[in-house]
Amino acid sequence: MVINMAAGASEAELQHVIERVKECGFTPHVTRGSERAIVAAVGSGGSRAALEALRAAPGVEDVVPIAHPFKLVSRQTHTGRTQVDVGGVIIGGAEAVVIAGPCSVESREQLFATARGVKAAGASLLRGGAYKPRTSPYDFQGLGVEALKLLREAREETGLPVVTEVMSTNDIPLISEYADMLQVGARNMQNYDLLRQLAKSEKPVLLKRGPSATIKEWLLAAEYLLAGGNANVVLCERGIKTFETEMLRNTLDLAAVALARELSHLPVIADPSHGTGRRDVIAPASRAALAIGADGLMIEVHPCPERALSDGAQSLKLQEFANLMDGLRTPIRSVAGVGNPDAPVKGQRLNGDSVYSV
Ligand code: PEP
Ligand code: MN
Repeated sequence: MVINMAAGASEAELQHVIERVKECGFTPHVTRGSERAIVAAVGSGGSRAALEALRAAPGVEDVVPIAHPFKLVSRQTHTGRTQVDVGGVIIGGAEAVVIAGPCSVESREQLFATARGVKAAGASLLRGGAYKPRTSPYDFQGLGVEALKLLREAREETGLPVVTEVMSTNDIPLISEYADMLQVGARNMQNYDLLRQLAKSEKPVLLKRGPSATIKEWLLAAEYLLAGGNANVVLCERGIKTFETEMLRNTLDLAAVALARELSHLPVIADPSHGTGRRDVIAPASRAALAIGADGLMIEVHPCPERALSDGAQSLKLQEFANLMDGLRTPIRSVAGVGNPDAPVKGQRLNGDSVYSV
């Protein structure tokens, strides 16, 4: 249930409601908005009837059931949109952010050439895999701690906060020493042990959608993180399995970006690199993702994709990435028959609520 406090309810009235929620057998999660507070009462086994009776408590405007199974992730239990701070870069704010870098960290030369290139082109965060979830056990598995050290050095030089994947609960403490944001890869979206441990972490989490996960399953995976105490979660749509084969890997489900932002207060970014598997459509798919409301993009970049140890076919060369960034700065095309003196200015999102600059 959600207890919506009235605008202007006092702190004492709010505290009273929090205490009553506990007495009714639920865990209170409080969000304080600029005008009003919301108390989400979550858990099982408590008395719903007793909660409903809180309608009569002073300072309470309404008590309503939470419509979705993903309760804390739902927009219903939160005032406004969540902004996630990753080493000083805000994801979910007015500006869309671009996370760029190699699929895997392969060498000092490869990482630094990429980090310098993406920084010069305007990326806000650096990505790079140290521990890689490879489909074949015979493929390159990542440089491990050596890659983490290189990522930290690259952050020191470029100032770009680092995002890298964590596959195992054992690796969380080590990776947390080096990275600013921990990525849960698509294959691990439903690794509930990993999610439970990351829920206890201080680090922001980038939660990729599983290749065969429904939107509800994805948001429920995020619920594990929020319910366990980590509210710094960014969702990432990275393509799903369909019958399509011309898209070399997955089918980027762009409408899911819009729907996830509708259902949830968490920021949602898109990964057209894994979402398509082919570099020729990454730039248009990126523009489409921002037009539909994505809070950012994750793009794989490599100085020499033909030599990449993983995901070369979908990695952009440095110049291609710079061109993509330039393309994001140009206005979206106008519509025939629509006279638009108020046409979107450079970088304005079509949903009108904010402006991106990259
Ligand atoms: C990656 O980011 O390199 C990766 C392995 O992504 P995903 O989990 O989406 O396949
Ligand atoms: Mn990859």
